[in-house]
This record gives sequence, structure tokens and C-alpha cells, in this order.
Amino acid sequence: MRGQETRGFQSEVKQLLHLMIHSLYSNKEIFLRELISNASDATDKLRFRALSIPELYEGDGTLRVRLSCNKKTRTLTISDNGIGMSREEVIENLGTIAKSGTKAFLESMSSDQVKDRQLIGQFGVGFYSAFIVADKVTVRTRLAGTLVENGVFWESIGEGDYKIADITKETRGTEITLYLRAGEDEYLDDWRLRSVISKYSDHIALPVEIESKKDKDNSIIWERINKAQALWTRNKKDITEQEYKEFYKHITHDFNDPCIWTLNRVEGKQQYTSLLYIPSQAKWDMWNRDHKHGLKLYVQHVLIMDHAEHFMPNYLRFVCGIIDSNDLPLNISREVLQDNSVTQNMRSAMTKRVLQMLEKLATNDNESYQKFWNQFGLVFKEGPAEDNGNQKAIAKLLRFTSTFRDNSTQNVSLEEYINRMIKNQEKIYYITADSYTAAKSSPHLELFRKKKIEVLLLSDRIDEWMINHLTEYEGKSFQSVSKTDETLNQFTDTSEKQKASEQKFETFINRVKTLLGERVKDVRLTYRLTDSPAVVITSSDEMSTQMAKLFASVGQKAPEVKYIFELNPEHALIKQVSELSNKEEFSEWIYLFWDQALLAERGSLEDPNQFIRRVNNLLSI
Ligand code: ADP
Repeated sequence: MRGQETRGFQSEVKQLLHLMIHSLYSNKEIFLRELISNASDATDKLRFRALSIPELYEGDGTLRVRLSCNKKTRTLTISDNGIGMSREEVIENLGTIAKSGTKAFLESMSSDQVKDRQLIGQFGVGFYSAFIVADKVTVRTRLAGTLVENGVFWESIGEGDYKIADITKETRGTEITLYLRAGEDEYLDDWRLRSVISKYSDHIALPVEIESKKDKDNSIIWERINKAQALWTRNKKDITEQEYKEFYKHITHDFNDPCIWTLNRVEGKQQYTSLLYIPSQAKWDMWNRDHKHGLKLYVQHVLIMDHAEHFMPNYLRFVCGIIDSNDLPLNISREVLQDNSVTQNMRSAMTKRVLQMLEKLATNDNESYQKFWNQFGLVFKEGPAEDNGNQKAIAKLLRFTSTFRDNSTQNVSLEEYINRMIKNQEKIYYITADSYTAAKSSPHLELFRKKKIEVLLLSDRIDEWMINHLTEYEGKSFQSVSKTDETLNQFTDTSEKQKASEQKFETFINRVKTLLGERVKDVRLTYRLTDSPAVVITSSDEMSTQMAKLFASVGQKAPEVKYIFELNPEHALIKQVSELSNKEEFSEWIYLFWDQALLAERGSLEDPNQFIRRVNNLLSI
């Protein structure tokens, strides 16, 4: 062999191989699905490139993958006549893992095997899964359209390194030979192979053939095992649930079943088929900046593009599946897709489909919907800002924590909230805070708890932004409980008692105003508190505390929030302090209330040490 060399695997590959062999032992047969899936991708790639360079077929346009066994050498060989690989590609593809964030992901896996099995399942082990059943793997491959002497040989025992060399290979494509580990002889058995193939490969368009029996003249007969018709082109009523699931696993490399799916054929001005899935688990790299959309674009059954992000808005980026269009040209590029009216129409129709599918799930199977929400709610919350046109449908699907359930699970819908609104309540009340605990113990909730008015507790970073884009739901507007709100007066005790307090505390309020000066927008009495002495609120035209924090967290300067300082005349401490004549003592107390209110509102103080000193001083009087 020419150009032979030994190269080390990238450290991530070594880690993956180790984890995989130790965590996937109970589901070994999936290696066949992974390898057949790769062969199918390789033939898709060839078909696509041959659209512009037909010579790549090298005179053989019948694409297929073949499996053959040799009982003497205890080997199983999977060979395709797809695109194949060059030497550089072999080094890149079979020696490294290019997915960004892999290192951190693999390191995050503990030795807890059950958990790892699920995690590694979402990661997609692909080619390396061959080592689950084989202790040596060889690959012979040649890139379509290159000379026969440009073949490449690759061999590894799945530990630290691999061998690579140049060889002569007559046929294009890739041939992978697995030297089975002791005890894995079942994969040499004809019936076992047939059953695994039909289980995993019925839905893919590529014929999967198995070496059947030698003819009299000793020539080999290949028998097709799978249906070899792309799943989405089949009659809907003939497709089983299992086939939908397997197809999902084929396109996503996810080991878990999908949560829900929808297959639609659109015939009319535009003609296309879409098969859209929602996974049951968020992909490990969903939050990476270069996370790729999981939609594949086919044009007239030819795979044109993986990760076709143009067909789904960002807040639905977890949707996976395929679109097969009859209208787009075969040579369409990403740039052209971008501002193409066909694309726009399909995107808008498919967005609606996904929202409808979710609504159906929420109505029919609350438990599954809750699982969906726990996995993808955070992404979905980008919806109101991104997709104004579907705001109503999106709002219906949102789930919140609220004071009604008093636990941190986001499981309250707006519909439920509205059904529980009390008499004369016109608005949907919410609070935003840094954490669920901070939200639920905020002094702003005191009146609401007393009057049994439900409040949505929002504490995801995105919530403030989301709620600002939600204008209304079923005619009800959204109101922050930390902002001024005239309609609340009807729930407070605006009686003679209040008038009396206003008079009695007038001087007190004026003294506080003089003391705090420019720091505050206004000082006034409040009837919204039951337990706290004071609270700060923002006026409805000002930026909220959470929004200001959001600005600060991305390094932008937000205008300073000026609060209205409200004091509770029913509180014993306020009553006492209002009668203090000693200026210094009075000031210490007022600043203490002020800092307390700021702390409750913002979660931090500019000068916490001064606050501590003040508390200690007052405690030691
Ligand atoms: P993935 O398929 O998720 O990218 P794999 O580890 O299965 O990861 O494969 C890595 C890469 O190796 C593939 O992306 C592909 O480029 C290449 N590859 C694997 N199998 C084949 C094959 N049968 N023919 C051509 N290329 C292949």
C-alpha cells in the first residue's frame, strides 16, 4: 500500500469511543441503522452533485447499499456506491468530530450509565458505532469521479489511533468491514440481518440489498430487503407509527422516539410535502450559537440541502424533518432561498402546521405537552417577539408558573388564568424577577395574595422581553404588578380610613421626599402591602427593573430607573418612624426602608455594606 501512515484520533473521538462502548451495550444493533443511514446520506450527496456533473455516476446510476458476511473471517461488510471520500475527507470525517461544543458535551457526561445512554443518543454516534460490535474496522473508499488509484484505506481497532493508506479501488463509494467481537456472531446470521434491516431501513429510499445465494455459475445474487421508497412519498394510511419513528431517527441520529409529527401533502398553486417532527428531547447543542436547523430540503425527491433554516422561524428551530418541493429549481442556492416567495409561503404554512400540531397535543395529551414545554418552552418563548402574525396561537401555547399553583413548574396557560380571574379583574397580572423564589416572595404580591388575584411569576431571562411583545390575550392586557396601575384601586380599601391616613401622614411623606430628593420620582402611601413596610414601583411609562437589567447584561446603557417609593401606613414600623423627631434616627430608618425596597425589587444593592451597617446600628439601639 502506498502513502501509509498511522495517525492519532482527536481526543474527543477517543472519549466518544470509550463512552459509547460502555453505554450502548444494551442496544447494539443500532450500529446497522447508523451505517446504513450514512450510506444513504452518501448516495443522496452523489445524486445532488451529479445534477451538475453527471460523470460522477461513472456509468452506474443505480444507487444501493449492500451487506455481505463472511463466516470464516467473521466479518460483516457494508458497501455503498455513494459519493465516497478523498484521503483528506477520511482524515477529517473518521478521525475527528467536527461538531463544536463536543468536548464540553462529552466531559459533562458522568459515569452514570443510564443517563449517558440517553445523552449519547442525542449526540448521534454515527460511524463510530461500528465499534460497539467490532474490535477492528476497515474502510475502503473512493471519491466519485476520481481515478481508481485514488482509493483510500483506513483501519482501526478503536483505541488511540488508526492507519491510513492509498489503494486502488475500482468502484466508487465506501465499503466498511466490521471484524466482529467475540460473541457478536448473530450479525453473521442472514435472518438476524434481515430483521434488523427491515426494522430500521424500510422507510429510506435507498435499496438495501443482502447477498442471497450463489447462482449455479457462482455469481452472486443480491436481494433487496427494504421497501426502498422514501417514507413521505408513500400512502399515508400505509405508514406505521414505527416507520415514522425510525425515519425520524434516520434523519436526526437521535436515539429517542420523537414526541409528535405531522405529514402533509400540499397540492394547488404550490406542490410540496412536509414531514415535520418535534423531538422528545432538546438536542445537546440547541443553545450553541451555530446550532443547525433540522430540516432537510428535497426538490423532486433529490436531497438539495441539510439544515434548511429558511423554512422555519427561529423559535421553532427544534423542529426536524423533511420538505420535498416540486416548485423550487433543483439548483437553488441558500441565497436564492432567502428571498424567494415560494420559500416564504411554505415557511408561513409550515409554521402554522407546527402551531396547530402543538395545540392539538396540548388539548389531547397534557402530559406530553408538558414534557414538550419543559424541553423547548424557553426557545418557544422567543415566538411573540419573532412572529407577530401568529401571536394569538403562540400565546395560547405558552405556559407559566403562577401564584395559583405555588410551585416552580411552568404549567399554567393563559386560558386557565382567564377562567380564574376574579370579578372586575380586567388585566392579566405578572411579575418578572431573577428567580422563581424572588418572584414569589416579592412584596408586590401582597395585595394580590390578599385579594386572591392570580399573578404569573416570570423568572426566565427571556420573559421580560417576551411579555413586552405580548400585547393582549382574549382582549385582556398584561400588567406588571411592579408598575403603577390605576385599575388596581378598586381592589384596595379606598375608604374613609385612607383619607384619614393621607392627612395624618402628610408631614411624614413630605419629610421623606425632602430626605430622598432626586433619588425618587415620588413618595406616597400605599394600600397594596400587608406585611412589608415599603415597596418601590415604576410608573407605567418607565422601563422596568428587569428590562434595565437585561440591557445591562448585554453591555448596553439603559436610562436610570426612577422609582416611586410607597410606604405602608398600616405597618407598625412606619407608624413608629413617622413620629420620630430626631433627624438622624429618622434618616437611618427611611434609608433602611428604601434599601429594603430596592433589594426586594432588584435583588442587589449598590452599597450592601452600608445597608448592613445600618441594620446593625438600628438593632443595637
Ligand atoms: P454524521 O453522519 O453525524 O456526520 P458520522 O460519524 O456518522 O457522523 O460520519 C462522519 C462523516 O463521515 C459524515 O458526515 C460523512 O461525511 C462521512 N461518511 C460516513 N460514512 C460515509 C459513507 N458511507 N460514505 C461517504 N461518507 C461517509
